[in-house]
Amino acid sequence: MTERPALLRACIVGWPVAHSRSPLIHGFWLHSLGLAGAYDREAVPPGAFASFAASIGKRGLVGANVTIPHKEAAYAACDKLTATAAELGAVNTLWREDGALWGDNTDVAGFLANLDEEAPGWRGGAETVVLIGAGGAARAVISGLLSRAVKRIAIVNRTAERAQRLAAHFGAGISVHAPADLPRLLERAGLLVNTSSLGMAGQPALDIDLSPLAASAIVADLVYVPLQTPLLAAARRRGLRVVGGLGMLLHQAAPGFERWFGVKPVVSPELRALIEADLVKTSERRP
Ligand code: NAP
Repeated sequence: MTERPALLRACIVGWPVAHSRSPLIHGFWLHSLGLAGAYDREAVPPGAFASFAASIGKRGLVGANVTIPHKEAAYAACDKLTATAAELGAVNTLWREDGALWGDNTDVAGFLANLDEEAPGWRGGAETVVLIGAGGAARAVISGLLSRAVKRIAIVNRTAERAQRLAAHFGAGISVHAPADLPRLLERAGLLVNTSSLGMAGQPALDIDLSPLAASAIVADLVYVPLQTPLLAAARRRGLRVVGGLGMLLHQAAPGFERWFGVKPVVSPELRALIEADLVKTSERRP
């Protein structure tokens, strides 16, 4: 029989992990739902992930979220993968089921849930999407867009080879372009998504001329520190619909919580306000 301990525990595992907002998100849900669970941080150095993964299922640890630099190691450690995790080659949510270690990548569901919530009906105008960046987040976003049958995705990335690898992974409908092509690409785009780290606190802004975009276009930014990125500010000035990155962070957390603690949590305005306040407090402390 599987051991079912009194206090269920989950955690976020990364290196470093002190900055993560996941404990605040899951702590809010545990408290507001009146559940006797816990969610901590686990700082695990590179190379030590396999022994951490082996500890899941023991001493009340029912699962974990995984962040940098362990998402590929988590993928390798799993016995079973959801179709999304298998497609992405990266895992951000772990749990045990029927004796096996399972992995999912909930960034895809988080991205789509946020877009659906903040830009309802977005798909109608988004036959063509322009995507900035070609890292792990870009992979999740492309997977999500293709699952909604978006026809054309044009990737623009600093390192062209990385974008070409991504395009080759997904195949038809994905093209790679130089930054100089942006004005022409934006003319046809219904949705512009920044998946690069440009615009993040401490990074250069993503400086794009948004004037070629149609008035009906939507601008989404995955960056959520700061909440109001220079890209979103420029899009608002043009009167365009915008989608910030915080909602994706909140929505990607929900599937793990439901698996570990057995209750589907809600991304409520109260949760959003709590995390927004924490992000503002942190940015005020920044030198
Ligand atoms: P990553 O794998 O390290 O990729 C970073 C991307 O940013 C690459 O395309 C990189 O281009 C580009 N980049 C970085 N610095 C640049 C610069 N100075 N000039 C031009 N391009 C630059 O990171 P990731 O995991 O994809 O994450 C990317 C961003 O998404 C981060 O800000 C992260 O916080 C955010 N994110 C948000 C959520 C959410 O829930 N809202 C989830 C995941 C990620 P090269 O290929 O040329 O290096």
